[in-house]
Amino acid sequence: MQSQEIARRWIEFFTSKDHTAVPSASLVSSDPSLLFTVAGMVPFIPYLTAREEAPYDRAVSVQKCIRTGDIEEVGKTARHGTFFQMCGNFSFGNYFKTEAIGFAWELLTSSISDGGYGLDKNRLWVTVYLDDDEAAALWQQIAGLPAERIQRMGKKDNYWHTGQPGPGGPCSEIYYDRGPAYGPDGGPAVDDVRYIEIWNLVFMQYQLSAVRSKEDFDVAGELPKKNIDTGLGLERLALILQGVENFYETDQVRPVLDAAAAISGKEYTSAETAADPHHTDDVRMRVVADHIRSALMLISDGVTPSNEGRGYVLRRLIRRAVRAMRLLGVERACLPELLPASRDAMKGVYPQVEADFERIARIAYAEEKSFLRTIASGTARMEEAVTESKAAGTSLSGAEAFALHDTYGFPIDLTLEMAEEAGLAVDEAGFRSLMLEQRQRAQADARGKKSGHADLSVFNELLAGGQTIFTGYDELDGESRV
Ligand code: ATP
Ligand code: MG
Ligand code: MG
Ligand code: MG
Repeated sequence: MQSQEIARRWIEFFTSKDHTAVPSASLVSSDPSLLFTVAGMVPFIPYLTAREEAPYDRAVSVQKCIRTGDIEEVGKTARHGTFFQMCGNFSFGNYFKTEAIGFAWELLTSSISDGGYGLDKNRLWVTVYLDDDEAAALWQQIAGLPAERIQRMGKKDNYWHTGQPGPGGPCSEIYYDRGPAYGPDGGPAVDDVRYIEIWNLVFMQYQLSAVRSKEDFDVAGELPKKNIDTGLGLERLALILQGVENFYETDQVRPVLDAAAAISGKEYTSAETAADPHHTDDVRMRVVADHIRSALMLISDGVTPSNEGRGYVLRRLIRRAVRAMRLLGVERACLPELLPASRDAMKGVYPQVEADFERIARIAYAEEKSFLRTIASGTARMEEAVTESKAAGTSLSGAEAFALHDTYGFPIDLTLEMAEEAGLAVDEAGFRSLMLEQRQRAQADARGKKSGHADLSVFNELLAGGQTIFTGYDELDGESRV
């Protein structure tokens, strides 16, 4: 089943259950406290937090998302992209756990010919929050799941709140068992490679009076109007329904991966990522496929490369893709071949990437060219520094990393990556303190100039499982001259 069809069925199913279909919002969140839309619920935050009255009781969407906090996972796990689409259904003070669980089970397990996704019931596992006996009982009653396939998890995985006093509540997640070839028995509590998380149901049930941390908060009582917020990863369902090994091999991503393989003359294999997740050509091709798509979608939504905030995220994605192609042995500009492959894979669902392609391509290609110039000018110096440090048996000094940054516009992440490839550590702390000194010297200039850094508390919260978002380099590279 193609991604477009997965999305179509999603909307059709929930509109048949009286949900209002709401088009995807932009990746650039309208919420000023967020860099990007990181989940399907983001456009609905005012309704979910009761700041505004929702214009409908039930809504359904397929939302474009960016999670830069997952950037280091890309290509190494089977399931993380920086851009992905989150299918969501929402209830604003309307239905609650019974219906949310009922809808999820019906849609996942109804046969393909009945409009569902036709998943094998015996491969589905769920988790519920420690004390959420109600949800556990519903999974038994509605889905007929045996008790051993309903696992309990704690606040870290199965509790949602905004990080502020306000709504919060337990989650229940649905996992798909890919089979014993992928890992040990025992369910998602034991293994998240074999048991792949596909859908998170959030039950906004309580009013929290104080929130000290992710796992430390006070519950004041039940919310007068309880909400449902769910998110299913479209690509994760696609990888299951398309019978492929991972996110990057699904229909909207794979063509770019194939283009990267063709350009580099390397043969792509699905080789298991867990065994040797670092620096294999397969990982590089997956990184290229993911990042090129994210860049396409970000530029399409109005982001342009820059040295801070959203623009820096875009810049870093493009640079990482260019770097990955170089590591695959291709030193010339590749975006003119890669970007059209991504456009063609995405235009069926997002016609604007085709209509606006000339502008998107101009921005992306210019960024690649500028980065290739940076690499060309700094690589010789970098190699010299590596050779000298190795001969001296030291790590690459902070002063050297700073000089590379200051003179050649070499971003620290590039220095770190190139040093790591050469088996060399970098005195990052030394680099940072030199950056800080430089920044302090420039402080008079900067005084009065408003900081571009967003409050990321909500963003951090939305990335469950201890993920932190990428904020470091935009600060570090604020003065980078690329
Ligand atoms: P994981 O534990 O696998 O990182 P998560 O718990 O962080 O996922 P949620 O915040 O619960 O994810 O988001 C809801 C759903 O969105 C997930 O169940 C998953 O299907 C999908 N999803 C989340 N992050 C990604 C990603 N980086 N790439 C693709 N799909 C994702
Ligand atoms: Mg989750
Ligand atoms: Mg995650
Ligand atoms: Mg999770």
